Amino acid sequence: MYGYNMLRKIDFISGCPVAGCENSKAKLDWSHEDCGYRETINENGIVECKNGHNLGEFFLLKYKCNGHSNGFQYGNFSAFAAALSVIAEFNTDFSAKLTEKLLQAYQAKRLPGQ
Ligand SMILES: [Zn+2]
Ligand SMILES: [Zn+2]
Repeated sequence: MYGYNMLRKIDFISGCPVAGCENSKAKLDWSHEDCGYRETINENGIVECKNGHNLGEFFLLKYKCNGHSNGFQYGNFSAFAAALSVIAEFNTDFSAKLTEKLLQAYQAKRLPGQ
């Protein structure tokens, strides 16, 4: 039997949520900078790496990729929406849940990059 805390999680593969990044709709396989392990994201939007580190909610993290030049940056709302739409290509339900989390955070003014 499953407890209420049995949240599903998937490998965290998405576009880059940094405004203006040319990888906004690429399939980027995110890794934890500190340890190098791949990251996962659960349906509540919590990111962990496969080395057991809890990194917190995806919209509070900074992102770095080779499609933008200024290193680690916060995402913004519209760029996150595009980045999460990449997830819909392989998991529509998960993409919808994360987009809902993003919208809630935006409305609560919890996005640090705005
Ligand atoms: Zn880690
Ligand atoms: Zn980027």
